Amino acid sequence: MVTGIVFHEEYLKHEQSPTHPERRERLAYTMDQLREEGIFESERIVLLEPFKASLEDVLEVHTEEYVRFLEMESKKGGIIDFDTNIPVGVFDRALLAAGGAIRAAQAVLNKECENAFAMIRPPGHHAKPYIGAGFCYLNNMAIMVKWLLKQGFERIAILDWDAHHGDGTQEIFYNDDRVLFISTHQMPLYPGTGYPEECGTGKGEGYTVNIPLPPGTGDEGYMMVIDEIIEPVVNEFKPQFIAISAGQDNHFTDPITSLALTARGYAEMMRRAVAMAEKHCDGRLVAVLEGGYSVEGALPYTNLGIIAAMAGFDLSAIREPENYLPELLWRKRDSALVKLKHNIEDVKRVHSKYWKCFK
Ligand SMILES: [Zn+2]
Repeated sequence: MVTGIVFHEEYLKHEQSPTHPERRERLAYTMDQLREEGIFESERIVLLEPFKASLEDVLEVHTEEYVRFLEMESKKGGIIDFDTNIPVGVFDRALLAAGGAIRAAQAVLNKECENAFAMIRPPGHHAKPYIGAGFCYLNNMAIMVKWLLKQGFERIAILDWDAHHGDGTQEIFYNDDRVLFISTHQMPLYPGTGYPEECGTGKGEGYTVNIPLPPGTGDEGYMMVIDEIIEPVVNEFKPQFIAISAGQDNHFTDPITSLALTARGYAEMMRRAVAMAEKHCDGRLVAVLEGGYSVEGALPYTNLGIIAAMAGFDLSAIREPENYLPELLWRKRDSALVKLKHNIEDVKRVHSKYWKCFK
């Protein structure tokens, strides 16, 4: 199994401010860790050079008015919302991030690799057609999925496991039955959407599956969600391509969320996703980096876990950041599992109308 990794030094140059959580060290530390572990020397890893997404591909998702606004503001600096400003030069970097996601998908289609991880910045899943939001400018995932649809794919499953609800991606595919959007996210948390009742509209009714997670949800909770919701729906949908919005802010050290997933848990989730891709789509799977703000305690470890699972390495070597282990004890809550079981029942009740597996 060969796994592609999309990366470019330009991704380290994007910065809203030195103290902003979405900062360059997120990827810089990960790259250091991957080099230290000798990942790039493995014959199962291939480094992929990204290109800038074309305006044509971006306009499949975003309005021309917003794209022009972003391009103009990016020349002098501007602001979108309280936590998303427009640094000078972000337009080109956002195009390179979106192009990085497309590059990953292209590499899988060209059989340069079996699956690929786009380690890109800035992230994208909160960006809506008409405006960016929540550290996001262009919706990298949606731009890649629209590109895949243009290549002739008819059933694509997006699994968005970022700790925040992927409201932008949901909105873009809300009435589309070709794209199954499944999101797990902490609730309550920004952006405040992602209830089970939000399940799509028109032709897309039933093709949006939202699974809210109580604060304190750990590895067991995530595995329960995969067993009871994600895998049954994916098996019934039979995707031709699996795309993962790989947010890494579920880790127990993340400073802006309250979930309790471990690096080992991330690796296990990816192993399950890879198995689903092998079962349904000849292994075709792309992961696109979204959030994740524990730059030292999580990202180097979780990214390594994800890559190891994608490339089929031995996962027993995946470690947790030792200095932070006490945090796991107070962050993980057994009561979260009780609440999560109720949430899972809610999701099944809403979706029993659409999916045989829940009848
Ligand atoms: Zn997030």
